[in-house]
Amino acid sequence: MTKHVYTFGAGQAEGKADMKNLLGGKGANLAEMNLIGVPVPPGFTITTEVCTMYNSIGREKTFELIKPEVEAAVALVEKLTETGFGDNENPCLLSVRSGARASMPCMMDTVLNLGMNDVTVESLSKKTGNPRFAWDSYRRFVQMYGDVVMEMKPKNKEERDPFEVIIDELKHEKGVELDTDLNTEDLQELVKRFKAAVRKSTGKDFPVDPWEQLWGSIAAVFNSWNNPRAAYYRRLEQIPDEWGTAVNVQAMVYGNMGDSSGTGVAFTRDAATGENVFNGEYLINAQGEDVVAGIRTPLEITLSGSKKWAELQGVSEEERAAQFPSLEEAMPEIYKQLNETQQRLEDHYKDMQDLEFTIQEGKLWLLQTRNGKRTGAAMVKIAVDLMEQGAIDDKTALNRIDANKLDELLHPIFDVSALKNAEEIARGLPASPGAATGQVVFFADEAAKYPQSILVRVETSPEDLEGMHIAKGILTARGGMTSHAAVVARGMGKCCVSGAGSVKINYKTRVMNVDGKEIKEGDWISLDGSTGKVYEGKISTKDPEMSGDFAKIMDLAEKYTRMNVRTNADSPNDATVARQFGAKGIGLCRTEHMFFEGERIKAMREMILSTTEKGRRKALDKLLPFQRADFEGILEAMQGYGVTIRLLDPPLHEFVPHEEANQKEMADEMGISLDEVKALVESLHEFNPMLGHRGCRLGNTYPEITEMQARAIIEAAVNLKQRGVETYPEIMVPLIGNVKEYKLQADIIHETAKKVFEEKGTKIDYLVGTMIEVPRATLTADLVAKEAEFFSFGTNDLTQMTLGFSRDDAGKFLDVYIEKGILKNDPFQILDQEGVGQLVKMGVDKGRSANPELKIGICGEHGGEPSSVMFCDSVGMDYVSCSPFRVPIARVAAAQANIRR
Ligand code: PEP
Ligand code: MG
Repeated sequence: MTKHVYTFGAGQAEGKADMKNLLGGKGANLAEMNLIGVPVPPGFTITTEVCTMYNSIGREKTFELIKPEVEAAVALVEKLTETGFGDNENPCLLSVRSGARASMPCMMDTVLNLGMNDVTVESLSKKTGNPRFAWDSYRRFVQMYGDVVMEMKPKNKEERDPFEVIIDELKHEKGVELDTDLNTEDLQELVKRFKAAVRKSTGKDFPVDPWEQLWGSIAAVFNSWNNPRAAYYRRLEQIPDEWGTAVNVQAMVYGNMGDSSGTGVAFTRDAATGENVFNGEYLINAQGEDVVAGIRTPLEITLSGSKKWAELQGVSEEERAAQFPSLEEAMPEIYKQLNETQQRLEDHYKDMQDLEFTIQEGKLWLLQTRNGKRTGAAMVKIAVDLMEQGAIDDKTALNRIDANKLDELLHPIFDVSALKNAEEIARGLPASPGAATGQVVFFADEAAKYPQSILVRVETSPEDLEGMHIAKGILTARGGMTSHAAVVARGMGKCCVSGAGSVKINYKTRVMNVDGKEIKEGDWISLDGSTGKVYEGKISTKDPEMSGDFAKIMDLAEKYTRMNVRTNADSPNDATVARQFGAKGIGLCRTEHMFFEGERIKAMREMILSTTEKGRRKALDKLLPFQRADFEGILEAMQGYGVTIRLLDPPLHEFVPHEEANQKEMADEMGISLDEVKALVESLHEFNPMLGHRGCRLGNTYPEITEMQARAIIEAAVNLKQRGVETYPEIMVPLIGNVKEYKLQADIIHETAKKVFEEKGTKIDYLVGTMIEVPRATLTADLVAKEAEFFSFGTNDLTQMTLGFSRDDAGKFLDVYIEKGILKNDPFQILDQEGVGQLVKMGVDKGRSANPELKIGICGEHGGEPSSVMFCDSVGMDYVSCSPFRVPIARVAAAQANIRR
């Protein structure tokens, strides 16, 4: 029989760390912590399979099936805590939390203090001798349960949480400011008003039966797997919908039982920089949600962290020690235990851990441990440090790199000279490093209002996720390093400054005020997420410098890769940048990009508008020296490596003049009338240019174009050889679907090369091959491979033609398709392995069957996308090619693919 519920507690557990798929990350680690002797409140995990079942067969059948196991597990918790669930004298109170395989912070629902009702609140009050605490817990429970299970939480941004409105009303009546100013009677009054609100809003009474509360909460957690923000997060992080969430039910421990209680969040290393320092934040007399929600600004755990914080905030040492003490000072014994525990956990998991803990009346409990989210810089440093420390081997270190996250290290930082003149207007916490400049927006759903926006909020919430993703940077007035904004921004690799207290925001007037200075929506500001500084105005940025650890990871990539990584580059500058990132050659040089500058476009237009071969040849003669010089530059920048140069590919109408002034210029240039030019332009119009007169169809109708380009390439290489520069040109024919299309072009190239060699009295090595980007070319790849010396998969066009999605127009429906689950992701970014992948594999297999020496690569956008790179490795390609800034990402992905295979 399938087991649906796994218990843990008192050093025993039915699960363990490697059962994440079944128990979720949180559940698996709660079990594991028990097994290694870390104090964890007892409880149980309902598996992710139950969530999947719940989604398919529904609540009733699912709950009927798991009921006996849940009841037995609750009985175990009762036994271990010596309490009774629903017992009026000595109640067992529970927490119910979500926990998917991959961490999805704050995306799903939680219910705390479950088991409270009018009777148990009295017994809790008696048992603890603390009626205020008991009633506070009760009112929190009614509020959370009302919001989450009875679905009373606000549905849009104008609405406020109905319970928060009631709290404000009561505070107003009592003339007090803070929640903590409310006394026991006030809290009792709140519970009364909360329940009345529940009745009014839902037509139902608030449930008093703990079992009804428990099942309601379990269902709410399962339902929250499908809430819009969780669904959005999954899409963002590529987490499959079918995984489902586990539910963790645990005995409650309380951080709000008075001044010997507290709660906090900690990291075993610095999640922003990767530095090996234990750090984190805590609050005395608070529940965990208070830290994460950014409602109260928490204090530092370590003394050194606290001192650093004070310096940044301009707080004196006396004031710091008296008002903002570290946990190390406030509770030295607990700190010692926590410090030992964090070390034990890191040693055990051999990775940076993100911990949640609660101190209940002087006893430390761990509520969670997981591999901490980190910035790209921290990811690299931690992997290298753990490797050098001997905790993990080099392959593991390399595998710890999330290739996509390297992107952050390649992002711009502020230009130092521009920064000198910038005016600092505020300072907050350096929550997520990097630089950002943009126009201010105050609402997440308006982040797309400007091409470059900075989202400014008092604090962020999970509803703001999409806007945070769109904005270039995030600034919050409240909240610490572990606030929602900080955690989410670091995960996204997005610059964030949090808790900038001097920023006063008026959402109504859409203005922020900083020390008397007014900044309106649409004004430019800049953020430095590494220092926490906020500047007025727009500040220019520059490319970052690579750290030594980055180079070590690149060395490992070099050591373990089988495939080479090339770059797509059309200029010597791009080629040089890519080479610095470790590109070994050019996989695609799109020659058309070279035809737009200055005099060239005129010669190009003349060629296109000519109606005779003679006219075209005259124009091509003008283009030849430009092309040859361009190729010399590129071949030289990539000397020693292969450079694939593609013959002219796009439809000709892209080059012709559409404005009258330009048409007139061409008419004068060519000695024909304006009307004739207009008519020629008109004649080039195509209904479906992407499937029209483009690619090798150009070279096959106008062979003189191929001749000129082949000559320019070969002459460039010969010239370089005479200067002692070693080059390996590879001439590539685009868009073939039929071997004869290829063969005719290859013949022209070989004949031209022969002529140039004779003229110059010397030779160079070169290859001739083809793009494989038309489905028919993959189907007949064996025939093509008999003629071609290399294949380069053009997966942009291959995706377009296989799915029948126009590359230029798919944006209109792709989002909807992804939202509806028709597609998992954008097939132009992430290779559709299921469909297009089959054609690619067939092309490789058929090609190699006919020509085992065939060199094969990819040059579509997918060549820089990690999952697609892994696919290319699996089908046996020799190289991938991508844009210069993606080269490091592709190199790591290529090496990981080789290790994992
Ligand atoms: C391709 O089609 O994948 C390709 C690389 O060519 P282009 O994007 O220039 O059509
Ligand atoms: Mg193409």
